[in-house]
Amino acid sequence: MRTLILSDIHANLTALMTVLADAATFDQVWCLGDVIGYGPNPNECIECIQNLPGIQCIKGNHDAAIIGDIDVRAFNYEARASLAWLDSELSLKNRQWLANRPERLVLEDMTLVHGSPRNPVWEYILDKRSALENMAAFETTICLVGHTHIPSIYHQESEDGMTAKVHHLTPGEHFSIESKSIINPGSVGQPRDHNPKASYMIFDDCTDEWLYKRVSYNIREVQEQIIALGLPERHASRLTVGW
Ligand code: ZN
Repeated sequence: MRTLILSDIHANLTALMTVLADAATFDQVWCLGDVIGYGPNPNECIECIQNLPGIQCIKGNHDAAIIGDIDVRAFNYEARASLAWLDSELSLKNRQWLANRPERLVLEDMTLVHGSPRNPVWEYILDKRSALENMAAFETTICLVGHTHIPSIYHQESEDGMTAKVHHLTPGEHFSIESKSIINPGSVGQPRDHNPKASYMIFDDCTDEWLYKRVSYNIREVQEQIIALGLPERHASRLTVGW
C-alpha cells in the first residue's frame, strides 16, 4: 500500500494537481491540514481532496479559523485579509466538511496532527527541543505533522527521550524509520524552506520505505490568480522564493 502524505495545500490547486500527477500511483492519501488559506482556489482544493482515494484529512489552524474555532485576531494582518476573502467564498458544504475534520487521527502506527501532538492545531515543531518535548505526547512510533511548511524528521535517539536528532532531507531521498520519530512532509502549496517547489512524501508499507519529493509547478499562474482576486501581494511573491 502506497500512502501519499500531503500538508498545507493552502488553496493552491495548481501545486496540488502537479503533486498528484507527479506522485502518479498511490492507494490512499493522508492530509495534515490547512487545505485552505492564502491561495486562490479554496473550494476547488477541498473538492479535489475529498475525492482522493482513501482520504484521511485533519484540521489545520486556517481550517479551524474559517469555521470559527479560532479567533482570526490570532493571525497576522495578511492572513486575516485572506481569511476575510475566504469567508465570502467558501461554500456551505465545504465549510461543513472542514468543520467535521478531526484534530488528531491515529492510523496504523502513526499519529496525524497539524501542529504537534500536545497542541494539535497551534504549536510549531521547529527545533529539537520542541520535538523532544512532544515525543511523550503520542503512543505510535511515528507522528506526522505539518504547520511549519518545512520538511523535516526528528528522531528520538534514546529510550529516556533525552536526545533527538534532526534528519535533513534531500529531495528524491528514500529513507526508513528506526526509532520513534516526528515527520513533516513539507508544504504542497506554500513551502517555507527557501525551496519554491511543492513538497510531499510517500510511504510504502510493503517495503517500509519513505520517499521525500519536490516538484516544480506553474507558480506564475497561481500568483496571477492571487493578484487578480485582490489577495495580499505577499502571498503571491513569497511563492517565488519558497518563504
Ligand atoms: Zn499552513
